[in-house]
Amino acid sequence: MSVFNLRLESVQRKTGGRIHLTPRVPRSGPVTTLCGQTLAAGSFVAVERDADCTNCLRRSRDPSRISGAFFEQEEGSQLLQLSLEQARARRPAGKGPSAPGKPIVRVLPTPPSIPDRTGELLTAGFKPAGEGLWRSPAGVLVRMRKQGRDWRFAELVFEGSVVATRQDGAIRLRAGDVEMRPSADGYEVRIKRP
Ligand SMILES: [Zn+2]
Repeated sequence: MSVFNLRLESVQRKTGGRIHLTPRVPRSGPVTTLCGQTLAAGSFVAVERDADCTNCLRRSRDPSRISGAFFEQEEGSQLLQLSLEQARARRPAGKGPSAPGKPIVRVLPTPPSIPDRTGELLTAGFKPAGEGLWRSPAGVLVRMRKQGRDWRFAELVFEGSVVATRQDGAIRLRAGDVEMRPSADGYEVRIKRP
C-alpha cells in the first residue's frame, strides 16, 4: 500500500472568522471543512494564511480523518487518485519546498482493489475474465465456483503444457504458468512461483 503526502488548503468565510482546513478549496460549489462545517457556494475564499480553527488543526493530525475527508470530496478523491497514479509511476508527488504554514499530512489511501485471494485462488497475476472466471498471463483459464460463502476451484482450461502429479491422494497440477496444489481442505490455485 502506498503512503504519500497530501497538502491541506486553508479556507475562510468572506465575512471573516476562523481559517479552516480542507483537502481542496473547490472553484465552485460548497466546501466541507475538516471540522465538519459546510460553507455555501460563493461564501468562502481560499487563503494563504495558517489555519486557526482548533478543531481543523486537531483533525489534521489524524490520518484516518484526512483520508476520509479526501474521499468524501470529489475534488479530493481526484487528487488522491492523481497522487496514487504518480506514486505508481514512481514520480515524486510534489517537487520543491512546500508552501509555508500548510500542514503536510500522511495519508493511507484505501482505494477499491481486488483482494489477493478469492477462496482457493490467489488472484495475484490473474485478470478477471467474467463471473468467477480468471485468466493467467499465459492464457490459463481458471473457473471458480461459489460454495456457500467461499469460492472453490471448479475447472481449469489450457491448451499447452500440463503436468498432473499424484501427491498424497490428491492431484497436483501445473498448467502453463499456473499451479494447483492440494491444501488442508481443498486446493490452492496460483501463478507459479519463478
Ligand atoms: Zn475548522
